[in-house]
Amino acid sequence: MESNIIRILHLEDKASDARLVQRTLEREGMAITVTVARSEQEFKQAFEQGEYDIILGDYRLPGWNGIDALRWSRSMHLDVPFILVTATLGDEQAAVCIKEGAADYVLKDRLERLPVAIKNAVEENRLRVERDAAQKKLRDAAQQYRLLFEANPTPMWVARIDDKSILAVNDAIVEHYGYTQEEFLRMSILDVLPPEDVPVLLARYENQFEPQVRHVGIRRHRKKNGTPMLVDVTIRDIIFQDIEARIALLRDVTAQLHAEEQHRSIIHGAPFGIYRVKADGTLLLANPALVTMLGYESEEEILKLNSADFYENPDDRQKLLNLAQVPGVVSHEMEWKRKDHATLQVRMVGRRLKIENGDDATYEVFVEDITERRSLEAQFLQAQKMEAVGQLAGGIAHDFNNLLMVIRGNAQILKELRNDPAKVDHHSLQIVKAADKAASVARQLLVFSRKQTLTREPMDLNATIADLWKMLPRLLGEDIEMHTDLDPELGVVCADQGQMEQIVMNLAVNARDAMPKGGKLTIETANVHFETTAIWGAGQIRPGEYVVLAVKDTGSGMSPETQARIFEPFFTTKERGKGTGLGLATVYGIVKQSNGFIRVDSEAGRGTTFFIYLPLAKDAAIASAAPAQEVATAGSETILVVEDDEMLRELMTEYLSSKGYKVMLATSGIEALAVFKSGIASIDLLMTDVVLPGMGGQELAAALRELEPEMQIIFVSGYTDRELDDTILGEHSRFLHKPFSLNNLAQHVREVLDRKAKTA
Ligand code: ADP
Ligand code: MG
Repeated sequence: MESNIIRILHLEDKASDARLVQRTLEREGMAITVTVARSEQEFKQAFEQGEYDIILGDYRLPGWNGIDALRWSRSMHLDVPFILVTATLGDEQAAVCIKEGAADYVLKDRLERLPVAIKNAVEENRLRVERDAAQKKLRDAAQQYRLLFEANPTPMWVARIDDKSILAVNDAIVEHYGYTQEEFLRMSILDVLPPEDVPVLLARYENQFEPQVRHVGIRRHRKKNGTPMLVDVTIRDIIFQDIEARIALLRDVTAQLHAEEQHRSIIHGAPFGIYRVKADGTLLLANPALVTMLGYESEEEILKLNSADFYENPDDRQKLLNLAQVPGVVSHEMEWKRKDHATLQVRMVGRRLKIENGDDATYEVFVEDITERRSLEAQFLQAQKMEAVGQLAGGIAHDFNNLLMVIRGNAQILKELRNDPAKVDHHSLQIVKAADKAASVARQLLVFSRKQTLTREPMDLNATIADLWKMLPRLLGEDIEMHTDLDPELGVVCADQGQMEQIVMNLAVNARDAMPKGGKLTIETANVHFETTAIWGAGQIRPGEYVVLAVKDTGSGMSPETQARIFEPFFTTKERGKGTGLGLATVYGIVKQSNGFIRVDSEAGRGTTFFIYLPLAKDAAIASAAPAQEVATAGSETILVVEDDEMLRELMTEYLSSKGYKVMLATSGIEALAVFKSGIASIDLLMTDVVLPGMGGQELAAALRELEPEMQIIFVSGYTDRELDDTILGEHSRFLHKPFSLNNLAQHVREVLDRKAKTA
């Protein structure tokens, strides 16, 4: 609507002239509003208050004139067209008025021209406004695009294709390279290169105009201050200011490449094998250390393999994969094989990578060759063991010497005192005691060497402890208070008495060592029942009935780190010469051999309790049968004794003969067989050493059984590494381990012969 009504500001002091103008325009049918200003003051006021499409101004006014009004309105930056309406106007004045920017002028006596003049001026002005707006828009857009270049954070330049001179640069390049814009505009692109690279660039330079984006690659550039850079260059040719030019994006990748190079050098130079592998064994990456470790020629050669080829046992790989399903690092030791099939001990540390290509999980693995270390460790362990054995042997030699002195001394006294029966008795008892002690020392040695023959039989643990209890004070010293709490209803366990004694001794000695300033040692026994598998830490115990032996001290206790290692052979925290580190290893070995479990409860500064669980013996009745006090030992049967040790042979013969038996002797299996075959006497019982020169005891027994299937046999041995053959042992034989007492020997002989008599 506004656009149709023409709003007129009319500067005219004569009201009649103003009316005339208005009527003239209305007569033409023009839609107008007219504001009349009669003076400078009214004009300026009207201007401030309203908006107008056109100004009509009288030339002559009192104290002001049309030209002044025109100048003023221009000076106010008013783009409203101005038409001068005046009575007279000289050519000169007309020229001034056009020069000052009037749209037109109309003489008062030619008012009929005014409507057209107004319409033209308004229309012209409208067109001018539109044009200005369009131009502004164009200017703004150009400005935006220019900004995309100038404010782009990537350094860029535009350079002529022909002479390579730089035509434009953006702010980022100015900032990054250190040249000012003016300096750049005087430079060529060759000026940022190190001199030696100039010929290279010239040789490669493409003179052809190509309006596609091209990735040039990495170039060496220099900053103004000389700092070298590696720049990743991308270009595109454009027409710039009518010139064939090339715009270049210059990304400084120095830091990135440097970091990549560092990573590469770590992997390349690592002393550990490093590889990446997919779940199916496809290798993605392998470093030189891996190549060397496995004895291959090159990385290429290895990458052709499947990682399963590395494993001595291919199942191990699957095991590792299963472990690696959960996030985190998996570490394992296992055997690998080299290209030449030699075996390697490796420690592998691997993890599943987060980046995955589709369903294919990728794993990163570090491998350390620990073959040499393992063998050194074994050697070291062996050396330590030798040292321990040496110590042990020294101690035992010392004990034995003492015992031998006792035996020898008493024997000598005996020889001299033959006629004094009371003293003979005393001194022979001394000899027997010393010998018993020597036997127990030997037994301890055998436990240590694991070559002891065990007699695992139902036994009363309380009785064993009570026996040992008498000896302990001497071992522990006066500062240690001792308590027992033994369950009188304690069940029977199936174990070796000597071994049980050793367990208690070893634990008691450790307790003493942990209480150098004194304390309290408690030994408890009880029955326990586990409904379900009991678990503590790494250990667990199967459900069932058990007897528990607890040895408790109020000593130093142990840190978790120490606890983790105490059962290792040779682990000791004691000073050199004091500890062997074999005590608990032995205890552990015994407990395991007895199908038991061991558990420790300890805290630094708060004492220690060892719990030993032994399974309840199934056949408790055997054990509860009290051993017969007086057993018959005499007889008249014929016994063939096979023994290569002369003294022992003589001792047994003499003793058995004294009991009324007829004794035949043989020093070897062959000899025994000959005696038997000769038929000199019918033999009721064969008593043979297991280890004999030539034909051994077992072989002899087998041969005799061929001839006499019901032959009763007693095997005798200090130890046997190999178990005796079951078929040989059978129901007609028995095993007796050295050293045994002569009384014990006679009892066994009698029992076996009586059994024969019963079955016969
Ligand atoms: P050794 O007694 O020769 O050191 P052991 O195998 O008997 O070897 O014990 C190994 C280690 O276990 C000891 O050195 C000690 O650190 C720790 N230990 C064993 N028993 C106890 C205990 N009752 N209290 C504190 N520490 C103990
Ligand atoms: Mg010890």
